[in-house]
Amino acid sequence: MKHQSEVLRIWEHPRPEEVGDSVEEFLRLLGGPTWIEIPGKDQSRSRAIVTLLHGNEPSGVHAIHQWLRLGNQPQVNVACFLGAIDAALAPPGFALRTLPGHKDLNRCWKAPFDGTEGRMAQEVLDQLRLMKPEALIDLHNTSGRSPSYAITTQTGNKQKTLTSLFSDQLVITDLRLGALMEAIEFEIPTIAVECGEYHDPQSHQLAFDGINRFAQTDDLFSNEIENSNITVFEHPVRIELQKGRIVAYGTSPITTADLTLRADADKLNFDMLYFGEQIGWAGPDELNVLTAFDAKGNNRVKEIFSINKGQLHLAQAGRILMMTTDPIMASTDCLFYFLPATNR
Ligand SMILES: [Zn+2]
Repeated sequence: MKHQSEVLRIWEHPRPEEVGDSVEEFLRLLGGPTWIEIPGKDQSRSRAIVTLLHGNEPSGVHAIHQWLRLGNQPQVNVACFLGAIDAALAPPGFALRTLPGHKDLNRCWKAPFDGTEGRMAQEVLDQLRLMKPEALIDLHNTSGRSPSYAITTQTGNKQKTLTSLFSDQLVITDLRLGALMEAIEFEIPTIAVECGEYHDPQSHQLAFDGINRFAQTDDLFSNEIENSNITVFEHPVRIELQKGRIVAYGTSPITTADLTLRADADKLNFDMLYFGEQIGWAGPDELNVLTAFDAKGNNRVKEIFSINKGQLHLAQAGRILMMTTDPIMASTDCLFYFLPATNR
C-alpha cells in the first residue's frame, strides 16, 4: 500500500513480487521520491538506508532492489529512502545527477527548507526523527575510478563499525555543504559510502553486501574489533573551479581551457601523492582560476599547488578524492577534494 504526500511517497512492506524484475522497472513503480519500510524480526528497533540522492549513482538502488527481491525479513525494521528517481529515469538512464533546473539533493538538508527539494528533505528528516534508527547509511558512487570509502562528520566507534560493512577507509570531514548527515549528525550515527565508480558492477556488489549485513545483523555494534582495521583521514579541502572558468582533461595542455587536468587523473584517487606530482597544466590565469577552501574558510590554493613551466604540480604531499574526468561534473560540483598528508 502506498501513501503519498505532495513530495514524498510512503510504501509499506513491498513484497518481492511487487518491486519489478529490473531496477528500471522498480524506479518506474516508485515514480518519485519514496520512503520504503520493511518490518523486522525485532520491531522495537530500526535502521535506515538512503540512496539515489544523485540520479547518476546507481549502486545503492541496485542493491536495495536486489535485497527486496530476496524477501528476507531483516533483523530490525529497515527504512529505505530513494531520492532522485526522476533524474535516474531520464534517458538514457542513470545519467543525470539532478534534473535540469533542480537543486542537488545532497545539498538541501539545511534551512531554509524551501522548494520541492527542501520540503522533501524536511519530510525525510521528520520520518527519521520519528523512527529513531540505530544507524543511517547513505549510499553514493564516484564519477571517476576510485576505491570505496566512507565519509562522516563525527569521529566515533559507531561510524567506524558502519564503515567496516563497506570499506576500510573513513574520511572525517568538517566541511559543511548541506548534506544529509550534517542535519542529523548528533542524533543518528551516520556514514555516507562512496561505493566506487558508478557503472562498475563491483560497486553494486559492494553496496549489496554492505546493506545485506546492515539489515541482517542482530547487534550491529558488538564487533568493535573490526574498527582497528579502519584507516581514518581528516580535514579534506574542496578544490573548485572559479565560476565561469573552463576545465579540460587531456594528455597535454588544451589551449581553450583555463585549466587542463590529466586525462588519467581519476586513477590517482586515494593514492598517496608526493610533493611535485604533476596533475595537469595551468592556463594564462594560472592558480587564479581555482579555490581550495578548508572548513575554516581559508583558501589554501597556494599551499597545495604550484606551477612550474606551465605544469600544475602538488606543492605538498596528500591524497586526491572524488576526482572526476567529466568536465560538467567538475564545474557544477567540484574538481576534487584534497586530503593533506599533514594537517594543521
Ligand atoms: Zn553522490
